[in-house]
Amino acid sequence: MATADGLRRSVKGLSEAELRERFGTEEACREALFDVRWREGLTCPACGGRSFCRLRTRELFQCNRCKRQVRLTAGTVFQDTKLPLTVWFAAIHHLTRGKGGISSIELGRRLGVEQGTAWLVKHKLMRAMAAREATKPKLEGRVEVDDAHLGGERPGGERGRGAAGKTPVVAAVETTAERKPKRLRLTVVRGLRKGEVEKIAKRDFAPGSTVVSDGLSCWPAVEKAGCEHFPIVTGSGKRAASWTPFRWVDTTLGNLKTAIAGTYHHVSAKHAQRSYLTSFAHRFDRRFRLDSILERLAWAAMRTAPQPYRVITADA
Ligand SMILES: [Zn+2]
Repeated sequence: MATADGLRRSVKGLSEAELRERFGTEEACREALFDVRWREGLTCPACGGRSFCRLRTRELFQCNRCKRQVRLTAGTVFQDTKLPLTVWFAAIHHLTRGKGGISSIELGRRLGVEQGTAWLVKHKLMRAMAAREATKPKLEGRVEVDDAHLGGERPGGERGRGAAGKTPVVAAVETTAERKPKRLRLTVVRGLRKGEVEKIAKRDFAPGSTVVSDGLSCWPAVEKAGCEHFPIVTGSGKRAASWTPFRWVDTTLGNLKTAIAGTYHHVSAKHAQRSYLTSFAHRFDRRFRLDSILERLAWAAMRTAPQPYRVITADA
């Protein structure tokens, strides 16, 4: 990581050429998935044996003791796929690249597959991201919260709240003492109400955290989760506009809204949570480690149960 090349990659992620070089063949992809799944060696699920022989490719393994066969992708997001693994790796690459994600039309074009196929691949991988996010520790220390609304611009830069037809979202960001953002959680809420804030705080904030917010009446509910609450009242008028304690949170939310508006024409509330907000937060939390983001998502996908079409479409 000390080299200029390493530094460039950690900021920008892999180039197309690097992707082809590292994950351009089925064999290379299988090797990568094998490492991700069985780095410490393969243990037979039937007899606990540790000695296997490889059948055909590295796709199928057979226990030398009891002859049980284990498939590399069984029980993972890649199970039963008819697509080459190179296509999956390319999809992971494209999904983890840009801040704004990618539409399934564009993804299909880049992968050379039909849009419907691209849509399914994308949603399976987003489920893997979401499953990974769910295992992360709670936000702790200093946490800033703010609200946003998906589904439209806020006219005149006003902090518009509860506008009709828009989806309210609570953004919570763990920061350093110097207010540099570390980790992000985005949650669709039914409204900016105390009950909703309490639910989020209990789920996402470690007790003893310091939660900083503006003066909206719903935020003190974080105290119900054992957090300390520090409201900062910004007032109104010129001073409030130039002095914005939520400047970076606003930037984050601004990016999110731009990303969603630019990529997706319509996002339902349920879908926004399930897919786009979670994957946005996933990328945000890994923004300084983009060189390994592809392997990290492959890792998550290998540890996420199969996500069949009927499950994904059930709440799409
Ligand atoms: Zn065995």
